[in-house]
Amino acid sequence: MNMDKLRFPSGRSVDRARQDAKTLSREAGIPLAQALDQVCSKNGMHQPWNSALASLKASANAVVCVCCSEPQSDRTNPLMVVSADFDDGGQELVHLHCAKNDSRYGCCWCCRDERIFLAVDLNDADECPDHRGESVSDSLEEDIDSYIENVRNNS
Ligand SMILES: [Zn+2]
Ligand SMILES: [Zn+2]
Repeated sequence: MNMDKLRFPSGRSVDRARQDAKTLSREAGIPLAQALDQVCSKNGMHQPWNSALASLKASANAVVCVCCSEPQSDRTNPLMVVSADFDDGGQELVHLHCAKNDSRYGCCWCCRDERIFLAVDLNDADECPDHRGESVSDSLEEDIDSYIENVRNNS
């Protein structure tokens, strides 16, 4: 989702409000989280930043793909929630097909097409944080098996 499109009731965009909060945090010497909440209520939403953002997104019809801005079309191309912790506590929805054509996203070989991850959250072996290291142990076991076989054959 393009965050520029999200606006507070005051008309201020979420991106601008975030910058306001950073400035406020620096100038007033308060934690950023507190500054975000203050900026939030100044712009007409009297609730914590994260929940305000969530309801802004919901009202902005967030049930569309971040890549193509289309809703779910058919079962073979599901609109999926990207498994990632975004800074703003929000979520991204993306079509399976769009994710596969976008270098920003990737799939874990172990989770297959059941989950979509941010490419940065996958390691070189295409493993998600939950499956990190699994392919390494698999190939290690294979190595040991073939080693044992070699020893047997040679004796
Ligand atoms: Zn899409
Ligand atoms: Zn996985």
